[in-house]
Amino acid sequence: MNEIITEERKKEVNSESFRDQISTVNKEGKRKWVFPKKPSGRFYNARNIVTVILLIILFATPFIKVNGQPFILLDIINRNFILFGIPFGPHDFFLLVLAMIATIVFIILFTAVFGRVFCGWVCPQTIFMEMVFRKIEYWIEGDFREQKKLHAAPWTGKKIFKKTLKHVIFYSISFIIANFFLAYIISMDELIKIISDPPSEHIQGLIAIIIFSGVFYWIFSFFREQVCTMVCPYGRLQGVLLDRDSIVIAYDNVRGEPRGKLKKGEEHKDQGDCIECHLCVDVCPTGIDIRNGIQLECVNCTACIDACDYVMDKIKKPRGLIRYASINSIEKNAKFKFTPRAIGYTILLTVLTGVLTFLLVTRTDFSVNILRTPGLLYQERPGGKVSNIYDLNIVNKTFDKAEIFLKLENIEGELSMVGKDLVLEPQGIVEAKFLVILSMNDIVKMNTPIEIGVYSGNELIKKISTSLLAPIKKKKNETSL
Ligand code: SF4
Ligand code: SF4
Repeated sequence: MNEIITEERKKEVNSESFRDQISTVNKEGKRKWVFPKKPSGRFYNARNIVTVILLIILFATPFIKVNGQPFILLDIINRNFILFGIPFGPHDFFLLVLAMIATIVFIILFTAVFGRVFCGWVCPQTIFMEMVFRKIEYWIEGDFREQKKLHAAPWTGKKIFKKTLKHVIFYSISFIIANFFLAYIISMDELIKIISDPPSEHIQGLIAIIIFSGVFYWIFSFFREQVCTMVCPYGRLQGVLLDRDSIVIAYDNVRGEPRGKLKKGEEHKDQGDCIECHLCVDVCPTGIDIRNGIQLECVNCTACIDACDYVMDKIKKPRGLIRYASINSIEKNAKFKFTPRAIGYTILLTVLTGVLTFLLVTRTDFSVNILRTPGLLYQERPGGKVSNIYDLNIVNKTFDKAEIFLKLENIEGELSMVGKDLVLEPQGIVEAKFLVILSMNDIVKMNTPIEIGVYSGNELIKKISTSLLAPIKKKKNETSL
């Protein structure tokens, strides 16, 4: 019995041995360059369309303005963000944190149910690498066999020309990406200034462009698919995010095994549908064999689905030997179901989205705080009057300058600012002090409720309820007693 278990365990360990190393590094720890075959097929065509749409959105967005401001701005340095034309500053930090948590939960939920669809179809790394840079490589250096040959060939004039042309184009595209990347951080207007003004006026901006261009060029020319396996935290989390019910790109081993070569004129009788043509491995941009099972390197690019469907068409077998499917649906023929984990994430996401939506809908253009100055009671004034001092704090969340006025709304009295007028710069904060002065005749209790209207121009932006602290005046008949 022990022997059997040991043998089975050995087999299991051997069958999983491909997980001991990643596909782009050889046993000596050196980089293994991947030369994937040019993909083609219905999924690739669909990805081409999605890519064009996403690239148009990516490059057009920095030009879009709402009320003279960028539609999207991600100014991490100054902690200023504009999302869909709505400004968010440091004062909205809690909203940003909540939005980030909701996004993370959404990603976890989406991945638990649909696997790495995002990686294959939407992620900028995959889009640029596989649908832009790789296409240029095919165009200049040819398909995978020609590329391998060129790679191994001595440095002849032809090789130098092809490699130089490729890298010049790669750098130019990286330069364009870097500019747009910066436009998302500093806005397109600022970027145009950097480009059009004398270089000496924008040294920092120019350095940023050069650094970003260099980083993008290095990633897409040399580091490539390793971003997904070694750097991207989302990629590395797949092991814990996916389960046997997640929909991934999977090889149907029930249908495909035992695999075996199909000889001309022979029927594939006692074998599965996989004819060992190796096409699914040839097209894989991360250099893996999907038939081994779900792997960290797989970015769900769909190239192997197209390749295998092509083979199945040729040998007149149904398509889908490699397809979008869950492991349980393949092994147990189980239908898709929401797992308790997915249900839990859905509830959490619904709550977070609800809270976030409520906070966004009730968010105002100004945040106003009024507090009676701590430590001070009241001041008796000549003419039978009494006053209290208040602290005022106003945050202007808009892009417009605002002149602020305060008015007593519910009682006769004076309201006078201490010092400056209240002028708020766009996205600015003002702190000030003011006095509320009432006649002692109007004081009937220790805490007199007062309402202060805060106006921007003629528009009432907030009404604050507070109180004025004062001694109660003794009535004449009370004194005589
Ligand atoms: S492409 Fe399909 S048939 Fe060919 S090796 Fe891959 S799984 Fe097997
Ligand atoms: S295994 Fe298939 S889907 Fe995954 S990266 Fe390779 S080709 Fe793309």
